[in-house]
Amino acid sequence: MDLLNTLVDKGLRRELPTREEALAVLATSDEDLLDVVAAAGRVRRHWFGRRVKLNYLVNLKSGLCPEDCSYCSQRLGSKADILKYTWLKPDQASEAAAAGLAGGAKRVCLVASGRGPTDRDVDRVSQTIKAIKDQNEGVEVCACLGLLSDGQAERLRAAGADAYNHNLNTSESTYGDITTTHTYADRVDTVHKAHAAGLSACSGLIAGMGESDEDLVDVVHSLRELDPDSVPVNFLIPFEGTPLAKEWNLTPQRCLRILAMVRFVCPDVEVRIAGGREVHLRSMQPLALHLANSIFLGDYLTSEGQAGKADLDMIADAGFEVEGAGQVTLPQHRSEQGGGCGAHAAAAADGAPEGAAGCGTHQGAGCGSHADAGCGSHGGAGVCGSAAPTAAPETAPAPTAAPETAPASAGAPETVPAAAEPKAGEPRTDLVAVRRRGAGTDLAPNA
Ligand code: SF4
Repeated sequence: MDLLNTLVDKGLRRELPTREEALAVLATSDEDLLDVVAAAGRVRRHWFGRRVKLNYLVNLKSGLCPEDCSYCSQRLGSKADILKYTWLKPDQASEAAAAGLAGGAKRVCLVASGRGPTDRDVDRVSQTIKAIKDQNEGVEVCACLGLLSDGQAERLRAAGADAYNHNLNTSESTYGDITTTHTYADRVDTVHKAHAAGLSACSGLIAGMGESDEDLVDVVHSLRELDPDSVPVNFLIPFEGTPLAKEWNLTPQRCLRILAMVRFVCPDVEVRIAGGREVHLRSMQPLALHLANSIFLGDYLTSEGQAGKADLDMIADAGFEVEGAGQVTLPQHRSEQGGGCGAHAAAAADGAPEGAAGCGTHQGAGCGSHADAGCGSHGGAGVCGSAAPTAAPETAPAPTAAPETAPASAGAPETVPAAAEPKAGEPRTDLVAVRRRGAGTDLAPNA
């Protein structure tokens, strides 16, 4: 397919695809899906080999947010039956982080609900960062605390934070439909602040909120312009008790096309599958590793992920390897410019010019926020929230429906009826479990 050849060539050269090319990826047919994955996979392997970076979320403060992000189970007025608690103490957060690091994670994402931190909150998080770094040499720490005021990014950087996450979430033109208590421009401003302070910027999106293909392409092109080092891609978990509870409109195939488009537009950036991975990709998760080079291990902010061991087994079975603490995540041209965590971070602290730190090039964008999933957002999808108000199982849900067994009498390989094959629009609340373990509970975390 000419389109895919063109996109591979551009990806290997870090050349920006046109909007039309990005839209064409989203419009490909299911018949062409494996070709799309293979093409984007070539770009992924060129910049990141077969490494998969593991990240671990610690929800420092859960629920009770005054903001109204529609996708978020922690929002103002949310009826989602999530854990609600105020700030974890540094030793509690460090203990939670240690579980993820022991499971193979190299980055810890410290997330707190709320519009943004007070200066006292920045003090608390600074103490937490110190506690984690004192006990875990070489760990990357990303903070995700919402909108930043002047000087707060610098204080977090000085405290040892490597990165800051604040997601753009969706296109500028539709942002007001999702949230009314802050603006798209507020989010961009925080990404700029983080970047200017020498923090590695992490900023991503949430798919599945009813947006158009054009919206998705717009937000991913905006992210490319902001040039974060990492882009978390969240797939909305439509939590019961939130305004987007009925937005079950993703299929595994759609998720793979979105990830492929993000890879083509941001070829040399850490693309992380964030919240909603298990719920929406289901048995297609291993294919997504050919597109993204980073995932979250274990549970999300307010929902449970699949067992950490299942993640590690999936990575090994698919022929990938967990990225080690001694390996630099980003390609050399980015890490040398100060991008990526670990590599650069020292730059700003050491007095290097602003442009040398953070993401390398741009000025701006960054991370997400709390909107949803992964680090970086607390909003909506997986990471933040969770759904089902109904009794949530203690154990993580199986990522797939159990395969139907063929009748014993079957001779020839006749078609076996699929077991309740989910379609777009059909709720899959059976795959969503509210987080009841780990941070904020007395139960051991999942890692
Ligand atoms: S995404 Fe963050 S700011 Fe928005 S409602 Fe959720 S916790 Fe609050």
